[in-house]
Amino acid sequence: MVIHFNPNDRAKSTNTLQVEFVRRASDGEIIEVKKWMVTQTEEQIHCLRTKIRQENGEIFSCLCCGHDVLLRKHERGGHYFAHKEKSAADKAECIYQQNRIISPEVQNRIRYHGQREGTRHIQTKEFIARILRSDTAFSEPEIEKRWATFADGWRKPDVASKWNGQRIVFEAQISDIYPQIVVERTDFYRKQGALLMWIYHQLPEENWRAQHADNFCSNGLHLFVADEECVIISEAKGRAYFKIYTQRPEIEPFKCITDGKWKLKIVQKECFELVPFSSLSLNAESQTATYFDIRKEQFITNHKVLCAEVQAGYLGDAYDLLGKSIQEFLVVKKSIDRKNLEGWAALICGIESKKQERPVGTKYTNVVEVLNLVHDHHPSFFPHLVRVLDRLKIDPHSQRSGKWKERVNDFYEGKYKGGPLPQPHEKSKKLLEYIYF
Ligand SMILES: [Zn+2]
Repeated sequence: MVIHFNPNDRAKSTNTLQVEFVRRASDGEIIEVKKWMVTQTEEQIHCLRTKIRQENGEIFSCLCCGHDVLLRKHERGGHYFAHKEKSAADKAECIYQQNRIISPEVQNRIRYHGQREGTRHIQTKEFIARILRSDTAFSEPEIEKRWATFADGWRKPDVASKWNGQRIVFEAQISDIYPQIVVERTDFYRKQGALLMWIYHQLPEENWRAQHADNFCSNGLHLFVADEECVIISEAKGRAYFKIYTQRPEIEPFKCITDGKWKLKIVQKECFELVPFSSLSLNAESQTATYFDIRKEQFITNHKVLCAEVQAGYLGDAYDLLGKSIQEFLVVKKSIDRKNLEGWAALICGIESKKQERPVGTKYTNVVEVLNLVHDHHPSFFPHLVRVLDRLKIDPHSQRSGKWKERVNDFYEGKYKGGPLPQPHEKSKKLLEYIYF
């Protein structure tokens, strides 16, 4: 008697597979379909087919696009995985679609990352969950729980939680993911009022992949990492910590070789540090989680550079640019009067001279000469200078000497050059607050 179907036979895959790598939801294991199929029997595969149908497809997902896949059987007997919803894979520009030719290079890359990073993905998810559990401000994290909506379909975030009522979704970002998928997921969560955060298992090495750079730039130059050290610190302190890589502009004084004056330049400062989650500003609309505002930092550093140029009497377009910078900040149409522009530049240079311990915008030998310059030539900016130095605590009484000391003493007695104190320049207050406090 011939047995036409033997459940004990080894299962085989079709020669051309639709989805070549799938992720098993129960343990996050990444499966290379062709190799895995031959380890199964026909019985196992056919039971699995039924189970997948019963669970509505939530057992395996496509490694590329993350959408659910089903087991299918070719008429010649080979098994393969196909997307449950073709339109979803199409929308996500998944590479595993019918009749799509995948280059060997892409194949290899997916295979390499798939195998190496399957376990890492599980580990990173666990790290994230432990970090969140350490902090009572987070609700109990949900791992790979289906998130369904009425209008926009559903997704299955790696880890989801709430931070003080704000819904946050964490995706453990390990292997290459396609830009379209990033955009699609981000849009989905934004519509739901949730913040999607991509968490890496380590800092990228010297060759940043496009997705690292995309993510870093769209998140205000902040990139998140969760590793074992974050877990240890979070559990010890009872609050969630992540490692954050940032780049932040800073100013640095240098002596200009052409005119011998001290000027300022912008340097990009790298930082990689443990940061408590509570110190972040979260914005679900812009999909950002940051602890400084990169636009503000860029404005401030750029502004200081221009002030040093103006103070140094630079004849290029520094005057115009500084004027425009102030107009934009104050939202005024009228251009800034030149005397005020010079006074403002001298004030910023005075403050920066004390902060940087260099006579910024001049070729003086002493920092205090820059302060005296403000006193002598820009009376309405002098009160601001004294007040700001005092608030920043960078010009303590004990350190003052000579003329500057007398002038500050006079100021506190309400005197200026033998007469009453000048009125401080009114419009400068707001910008000073923005830059220094
Ligand atoms: Zn796919």
